[in-house]
Amino acid sequence: MKKYNFNAGPSILPQEVMQATAQACIDFEGSGLSLMETSHRAKNFQPVVDEAVALFKELLEIPEGYSVLFLGGGASLQFCMVPFNFLEKKAAYLNTGVWASKAIKEAKIFGEVVEVASSKDKNFTYVPRDFEIPTDADYMHVTTNNTIYGTELLKDLDSPIPLMADMSSDILSRPVDVSKYAVIYGGAQKNLSMAGVTFVIVKEDLLGRVSRPIPTMLDYRTHVKKGSMFNTPPTVPIYCALQNLRWIKKQGGVAEMERRAKERAEIVYSEIDRNKLFVGTAETDSRSRMNITFVLKDEYQELQDEFLAFATGRGMVGVKGHRDVGGFRASCYNAMTVEGCKALVECMKDFEKTH
Ligand SMILES: *Cc1c(COP(=O)(O)O)cnc(C)c1O
Repeated sequence: MKKYNFNAGPSILPQEVMQATAQACIDFEGSGLSLMETSHRAKNFQPVVDEAVALFKELLEIPEGYSVLFLGGGASLQFCMVPFNFLEKKAAYLNTGVWASKAIKEAKIFGEVVEVASSKDKNFTYVPRDFEIPTDADYMHVTTNNTIYGTELLKDLDSPIPLMADMSSDILSRPVDVSKYAVIYGGAQKNLSMAGVTFVIVKEDLLGRVSRPIPTMLDYRTHVKKGSMFNTPPTVPIYCALQNLRWIKKQGGVAEMERRAKERAEIVYSEIDRNKLFVGTAETDSRSRMNITFVLKDEYQELQDEFLAFATGRGMVGVKGHRDVGGFRASCYNAMTVEGCKALVECMKDFEKTH
């Protein structure tokens, strides 16, 4: 049976990206060695990093003065690296869920944190719109896509202070005005690559302004200076990222990724809104294109396990919702096809008919 992968992360990747990566793990570009046993300092590996950085810059139209880094530690380490490198006294955060809260918790170790707004009052089912960014804070931090709650901030904010963004789960799904950000970071395993690498886009001239000493590995300047080669970077995940960046370019770039994301989201949300059994959890104007969350209506709650089994029987993988929201979540990252979304919709329709 054909499987449709709606996993939230690690998540779907294009077949050809996985095939190229698998091939390199057997014989890295005809070298007779696996990529796994190849030095990160080898002559044939440096071009991999160089091309991945160049493609990232090209696809997102990253202006001069920014570095693209490939690091370890996940987005979770960035929750601490951002304040370590930028928080002198006070930072502003938008609280839109579990990941934003975790970022806030780390920032509090380094200084005062102002929560400019929070959607906690409604279990993070929306992205707050009315808030003021304090001009006396060192930076403002947002989570652009809330993977667990299925909400997304689709707009690049105008911030009077440096803007930091966790884009773990919506990077490369739309054009972004990078010039509005000081740092954009994320774990790669949602929309860029396999697990194991973290991308960071950082504006170089904002570095080195905090007075505290920073451990070498946690100092962005180390990695900017050494081109992500200060220590051994995750070579296979970087190679996989390169294959995916090439794939995105071949498909037509981030504008095409956005067109597809809109198309997929339209297909799935229309069915959620039409189907008598289901209801979406996110407020309509905050709906994420990447993670589509929905639950059974109150009167059909007892069908929870039955629908999951039904969907699994139809080849749907990973549609169980996060425990904080319950219900279901269909993650539709770049590699998800319209065909996959239509298969899910058919599955929802057929389930409705039997009830
Ligand atoms: C998954 C996720 C994280 C955590 O990423 P790790 O790479 O596992 O540390 C952080 N933020 C968002 C928005 C996520 O979706």
